[in-house]
Amino acid sequence: MEPRPIEELRSEVVDQIAAGEVVERPAHLVKELVENALDADAKDIEVEFDEGGRRVRVSDDGTGIRPSDLKRALQRHATSKISVADDLWRLSSFGFRGEALASIAAVSRIELVSRPKAESVAHRVSAEFGTIKAIEPSAGNLGTSVHIESLFENVPARLKFMKSEMAETAQVKAVLKATALSRPDVGFRLKTKGRVDLQFPVASGFLARAKSVLGVKLYETEGEFEGLKVEAVFSGPEDVLGNGKGLWFFVQGRWIQDRSLQAAVVEAYRGLLMHGEYPIAAVKITVPDGEVDVNISPTKSAVKFRDPSRAFRAVSRTLRSALELAPWMQDGTRGAAMASGAVPAMRDVNAVSAGVVSAVSQYSSQYSAGSTVRGEARSVSEFTRPYRAKTDEPSSVSSERPDVETSRSAAGDSFFAQTAESSPVAEVHKGKWSSLKVIGQAGLTYLVCEDGDKLIFVDQHAAHERVAYERLMRAWREGGIEAQALLIPLVIELEPESLEALLSQAQDLAKMGFAIEAMGPRSLAISSFPALLKESAVKSGLEELAVRTLERGGSFVVEEKIGDVFARMACHSVVRAGQPLGLEQMRSLLEQMDEFPLSSFCPHGRPVSVEYPYARLERDFGRTV
Ligand code: ADP
Ligand code: MG
Repeated sequence: MEPRPIEELRSEVVDQIAAGEVVERPAHLVKELVENALDADAKDIEVEFDEGGRRVRVSDDGTGIRPSDLKRALQRHATSKISVADDLWRLSSFGFRGEALASIAAVSRIELVSRPKAESVAHRVSAEFGTIKAIEPSAGNLGTSVHIESLFENVPARLKFMKSEMAETAQVKAVLKATALSRPDVGFRLKTKGRVDLQFPVASGFLARAKSVLGVKLYETEGEFEGLKVEAVFSGPEDVLGNGKGLWFFVQGRWIQDRSLQAAVVEAYRGLLMHGEYPIAAVKITVPDGEVDVNISPTKSAVKFRDPSRAFRAVSRTLRSALELAPWMQDGTRGAAMASGAVPAMRDVNAVSAGVVSAVSQYSSQYSAGSTVRGEARSVSEFTRPYRAKTDEPSSVSSERPDVETSRSAAGDSFFAQTAESSPVAEVHKGKWSSLKVIGQAGLTYLVCEDGDKLIFVDQHAAHERVAYERLMRAWREGGIEAQALLIPLVIELEPESLEALLSQAQDLAKMGFAIEAMGPRSLAISSFPALLKESAVKSGLEELAVRTLERGGSFVVEEKIGDVFARMACHSVVRAGQPLGLEQMRSLLEQMDEFPLSSFCPHGRPVSVEYPYARLERDFGRTV
């Protein structure tokens, strides 16, 4: 067979190919046009959208285009935004390739009407499927209006792949909302089929704009973390969705979609949401130049962080600190007394660590020592026995922190007694929970308490679970997790890339109690692991971590995972429903709850307490008129 000659593609074919990338779907086209308007300093932008995106008009009040440049605006690689390759690296505008309009012009009928300030009349240029027509004067306001019709009519293959009108409209709305969130200083309007669908007038700031875009009660926070600046607005735990569609992310002002940042937000809400619930939040991240590559896709909806785990931490910690203040308690029905109790007062590291060790040990004694008791009611004496079962085995427990060791052996007694003792907060600060008057236990499951004008029922299991969980999390953050050292390292075989992935996490793993080292391209030696894990679970646990790391391509996975591990562990290591508690134990539990913020929800998101105002009793008894 004869070789076929190599030929250059005709320019309209090139344009059509580019159009496939730049305007893969009409919503992308809207995004390009809106970004052009923003690049032109517009303060008011109107989008009209019809026929599932085959007809689009975007009008703005920006700087406009000179009549002499109008034609060039439709030509490929013509842009006013960069002139030398170096400019590519100092990009502050959205567009820069100069290919959006040319690409769109290749696959539609397009009309550009524009009038800069210096011109007394507007001019228009139009093109039909790539053929540019002459420029002529036209009626038109200051600014630019781009009108597109018959999108993809000359590319039947693409037409077939158009999504339904509904799906495309939804996507355009998402684009408008995202843009509106990133630019409160600009007014936006979306009309579909001639009706105003969305309208966001110029807002005073991020929070105000976010409220009008997201439509729920939101709170605001900001923080700086390892050079990353994070600004966020977020909902309380009562405003949730069943999917992540209420989560919006912006990096350097650009809307992006990023699973790891989503996970970071969910992580921050850990313990506040039920499984499968997502909060509503918008997060803006600003990173130093060179820390991020924003141009990895033509539609620019993804970014590559140089250090994804840093971005994860920055987002989850900034949000977490704000959530720990439980701002939703400050307003509304729950009152200020509750709110004051939501703020942590205890910062004594040793005391906290001691508490953690006790929680861990108790867990260990219950599970590692081969106990088969699960879920059933256990007697008080079993629950409060000294946690020595595990520590009696001489080789199995080693603590790297002598102070932890000491405080543990000194403390000696039951989980409740010990932690109550080492908890200075109970004396110096009467928090929300400890100031409740305990009346008794109901149904072997609920503490019945009184607080002024209401009864409060506290779920003993959920409450204790919360405390154990927070202790573990805090110990982990402060490096106080108990590790179990092995005399002979455990060696596991892994795929080389899994091994690499785990080694990249070594530091975070060390904080969890794992000491790992490569023994070859496929062998990993483990010389210590968290005391709370059974040895048999170590391999599968690490393998799962490796898979997650590879999937997500970052080292944040450990942080994401740790909450799961601790939540599960806390659930198994604490007092259960059906277990009788004495008055002192109940008081002690309430005092421990005051050590931590967010005590109002168990780590799985169930409420810890339920209130019953006397006003309701009175009503039920018919005492009120
Ligand atoms: P890019 O945005 O990458 O430069 P485009 O094809 O989107 O490429 O636009 C080409 C040029 O047309 C822009 O560089 C800009 O000068 C001009 N332009 C496009 N839209 C507008 C607008 N709404 N207002 C002012 N100028 C515009
Ligand atoms: Mg552009």
